[in-house]
Amino acid sequence: MQTTITHETKQVKVDDVKLYINGEFTGGQGKTSYANRSPFTNETINNIAEGRKEDIEEAVKAAKEAFEQGPWGKLKVKERLVYINRIADLIDEEAEEIALLESIDTGLPISQTKNQAARAAENFRFYARMVETKLHGESYPVDEDFINYTVYKPLGVVGLITPWNAPFMLETWKVAPALATGNTVVLKPAELSPLTANKLAEIIHKADLPAGVFNVVHGFGETAGDALVKHPDVKAISFTGETTTGSTIIKNSADTLKKTSMELGGKSPLIIFDDADFDRALDAAVWGIFSFNGERCTANSRVFVHKNIKDKFVEKLKERVLNIKIGDPLDPSTELGPLIETEHFNKVKHYIELAKEEGCEVFQAVVPEELKAGNYVPPTLLLNATNDMRVCQEEIFGPVMAVIEFETEEEAIQAANDVRYGLAGYVWTNDMKKGHRVAHAVEAGMLWINSQNVRDLRIPFGGTKDSGIGREGGHYAIFEFYTEPKVIHVALGDHHIPQFGKKK
Ligand code: NAD
Repeated sequence: MQTTITHETKQVKVDDVKLYINGEFTGGQGKTSYANRSPFTNETINNIAEGRKEDIEEAVKAAKEAFEQGPWGKLKVKERLVYINRIADLIDEEAEEIALLESIDTGLPISQTKNQAARAAENFRFYARMVETKLHGESYPVDEDFINYTVYKPLGVVGLITPWNAPFMLETWKVAPALATGNTVVLKPAELSPLTANKLAEIIHKADLPAGVFNVVHGFGETAGDALVKHPDVKAISFTGETTTGSTIIKNSADTLKKTSMELGGKSPLIIFDDADFDRALDAAVWGIFSFNGERCTANSRVFVHKNIKDKFVEKLKERVLNIKIGDPLDPSTELGPLIETEHFNKVKHYIELAKEEGCEVFQAVVPEELKAGNYVPPTLLLNATNDMRVCQEEIFGPVMAVIEFETEEEAIQAANDVRYGLAGYVWTNDMKKGHRVAHAVEAGMLWINSQNVRDLRIPFGGTKDSGIGREGGHYAIFEFYTEPKVIHVALGDHHIPQFGKKK
């Protein structure tokens, strides 16, 4: 099946998607496929080859051979990094098409997927620089007797399992450090967003990486994902997705003693004090939940507003919500598009009904009639919410902001922390002492003071509590996950060696 997408002056043909194993595009051993639907129309875009256990076996075998016998493991670092930079250049060349594919596959507005494509190229360049300049060990001299030194070695075959909410960015955020440090990769992308993962396979194929170094097995979590997690030759699993899936993966990887990295769900607080820059806080709060259609792990889904400014803040929030441009994801002026699929759409709608039952006032914009075929949930405010409600405790993962009033700093911190998650947090105040105090007290892996979520590739990214284990980003990815230190002990002289069994 082939669908042609026309956007402004560009036409893209979307063919059926195959697995990419050992340098070849293949239909998979089971020869089965599933339909990939458009969030905008719910019609089929194309068919996706459904990888299963036997395809994972083949991909891992190819990746293992490429690591142990292929040229990849023997390349000089500079030679390897030429490939990594070439991938970045090819992503740049194809950025427009990547953004387009991402938008038709996920419903994310094109103005937002464009930035993601640029970020993806930077992920490769950043890790090429990082590995070239920072991936070195330490030395530990022991008097005149020893010099001990460390070298950082790649792990071998790593399995990468990714979600659908910002697929290309999140996939490259894992693939770039994994390859730059010399590992080989089997990627299992989310079943709901296969198009840009396939594009990445095409780009890496074009960059001429040796066969088997990078493989993509599309398919479902419970089959393809599970087989990757349980495979004895896969040394590590880097996972981003829901907390419950992360927990299952940790259990299932135990028998083969895998290293795992977990980037999981969130229910992040944004706390606005009455001395904050009101307009900037408003901009940030609105963007932080309604960008990415609300399908953002670090979204500020719980907004705590000081009682002195709450009424005015809610009034302005209502104005913004009514003005957000709901539209076709390919329209450059669209700010909010459709949710990924009908099941998720129903889940989000269910939470909005639950909010009413729990006593919230629900304030929503209206989805234009001509968009009714898509999975559109309008920007939604849950007013008069309290932190103990289920809608304030569970991750909704849609364009839904709960607004909670507070009076004291202690009360805000206590409520912000009274949740199982701990991914991100945001504090708005012009009292810097208070800003730091609250940022230190909120239980989350990442805090922003007087800012929306702005990323710097050098910082550690990740959460605490049920939001994750481990960190990605910066040197954390290359030292703490994709390599292992090996220590070499070198005797410099004739130090004492016990002489067991020697006749006195
Ligand atoms: P999900 O957990 O349903 O799926 C993620 C991936 O795991 C998919 O590729 C899926 O096929 C696979 N999978 C499912 N079951 C599996 C199993 N038993 N074994 C192996 N793999 C399995 O998550 P989703 O719905 O795709 O993504 C949304 C979630 O991701 C949200 O909770 C969001 O907060 C989270 N997320 C977290 C971050 C972060 O950095 N912390 C970033 C983005 C998204």
